[in-house]
Amino acid sequence: MNQPTSAPPTTRPTLPAAARRRCPAAAAADPTPCDGPPDTATLIDRHGRETAGCVQHCARRLPGLDGARVHPFVPTARALDIYFRASELPPFAWEIGR
Ligand SMILES: [Zn+2]
Repeated sequence: MNQPTSAPPTTRPTLPAAARRRCPAAAAADPTPCDGPPDTATLIDRHGRETAGCVQHCARRLPGLDGARVHPFVPTARALDIYFRASELPPFAWEIGR
């Protein structure tokens, strides 16, 4: 344990530079950039775990999370935007180049 424990997750030296600039909902293998602030929306998986993210990455992550949904506190228009974008994507869209 020679790494400082007080460093916030966004500055961990083991993360690639591109991953440090993206929201928590962005999958490591998904090369797309964020679309908006990193805490625009929150997803809840079927186990109750929450993941904050931008609209783009919440929409891209949602089809691959079985039983997940947008948090009910997310404004309706934003939640619908995420569901609409997600409905046009397969699970793990980045694996087939989308
Ligand atoms: Zn993002």
